[in-house]
Amino acid sequence: MKKRLDEKLELVFQDVISRNPGEGEFHQAVREVLESLGPVLVKYPEFRQHKILERICEPERQIIFRVPWQDDQGEVRINRGFRVQFNSALGPYKGGLRFHPSVYLGTIKFLGFEQIFKNALTGMPIGGAKGGSDFDPKHKSENEIMRFCQSFMTEMHRHLGEYTDVPAGDIGVGTREIGFMFGQYKRLTNRYESGVLTGKGLDWGGARVRREATGYGAVFFLNEMLKSRGTSVEGKTCLVSGSGNVAIYTMEKLQQLGGKTVACSDSNGVIFDRKGLDLNLIKQIKEVERVRISEYAVRQKRAKYFPNGKIWEIPCDVALPCATQNELTGKDAKTLVKNGCIAVAEGANMPTTSEGVHYFLDAKIAFAPGKAANAGGVATSALEMQQNASRDAWDFAYTETKLADIMKQIHRRCHDTAEEFGTPGNYVNGANIAGFLKVAKAMAALGLV
Ligand code: NDP
Repeated sequence: MKKRLDEKLELVFQDVISRNPGEGEFHQAVREVLESLGPVLVKYPEFRQHKILERICEPERQIIFRVPWQDDQGEVRINRGFRVQFNSALGPYKGGLRFHPSVYLGTIKFLGFEQIFKNALTGMPIGGAKGGSDFDPKHKSENEIMRFCQSFMTEMHRHLGEYTDVPAGDIGVGTREIGFMFGQYKRLTNRYESGVLTGKGLDWGGARVRREATGYGAVFFLNEMLKSRGTSVEGKTCLVSGSGNVAIYTMEKLQQLGGKTVACSDSNGVIFDRKGLDLNLIKQIKEVERVRISEYAVRQKRAKYFPNGKIWEIPCDVALPCATQNELTGKDAKTLVKNGCIAVAEGANMPTTSEGVHYFLDAKIAFAPGKAANAGGVATSALEMQQNASRDAWDFAYTETKLADIMKQIHRRCHDTAEEFGTPGNYVNGANIAGFLKVAKAMAALGLV
């Protein structure tokens, strides 16, 4: 069930719908934030006068461009590229690039909008943006991926810069793709501007822990949330959807803290291993060989593979959706709670539908929204920018301690803000309000820009 908005917030929402037709995920992301903001506008009436809400829902700049490239057969292919520079009140635009065939303007807008509040929650000086393309990296050769990345950057480079806009990875974009794009940026600009992209390789300006950061951060947040309820990750049976960057390092940190992940997935099916998944085997399959997760059951005989299976039907204590948006529905939420799940932490962006979120909140289980729980990735990107600016390279342990501290602070901010605004334990309100307040105050201070 959707929460009712007060009359003025409803008007803002209707305006967003009519100005951005057909962009359902963007509407969903905006509505989720607006649902938290009623009490904020009572406390800060000046935000209405400054039209902060109307301004924050309108991107500062949206760039759409053609990406032509040639496949290995010499055939010319055309994709569409996007960069939505949503809000720069707190710092240069910052947010990842997604390469997936489902990408359209609405996907990038929803992700960019979420990114504004997430970045604010980190406490670091970064604005919000997102970009990507409907290019499908699956079944493409390394040369095809390189040619695509080069063409994408040939157009996008004019909009970037370490003080302007700093992209990173997301679905379909990892260190390899960032490398091809960084190489092309360097060639076009004749500048070794390390701070223009994050998620770089360790040999050419990357930061330790960036690869692990989103997944590790989600588990740090989860553990804080569980500790505030008198328990911890140790001994918990966990489900982690997806088997990409975020999922793998979520599983790794769960394992380090004594949790047991019994299932993960990809868009074709689910792997279940009652004794706990073998992480080294998953890394070999997904990071080295880059093949489907079904391969796990071929090599580990005690595991089961369910083609088109539903991961959320497996009983667990804790669920971490780490694949993509709206992968966990209201029905799934009900099943999880019925089976004894006590906590959900979103590694992915908006993986739970509105119905699912409301179900978890009503059931009073511990629920960590993505904009708080997965903020460790972008926070560590900001640490990468910091190291690039000072020509420094911190070691793993030092950087991980910094990440753990940041996640603790984000947890505290969300926890305390939820209490301050009369909804203790509601991390959705806590994250939305704390993130919004930081950006709104900066926007008001910067005048009508
Ligand atoms: P990857 O590309 O590394 O992995 C994505 C995983 O999700 C794969 O297992 C993929 O399966 C699965 N997946 C993707 N799209 C779909 C779909 N439409 N249906 C079902 N499964 C799907 O991406 P990341 O791990 O980097 O990103 C995962 C999520 O985390 C995204 O929501 C992203 O926005 C979010 N995130 C990522 C951050 C980062 O630092 N990378 C930071 C913050 C959030 P398959 O191979 O079959 O497509």
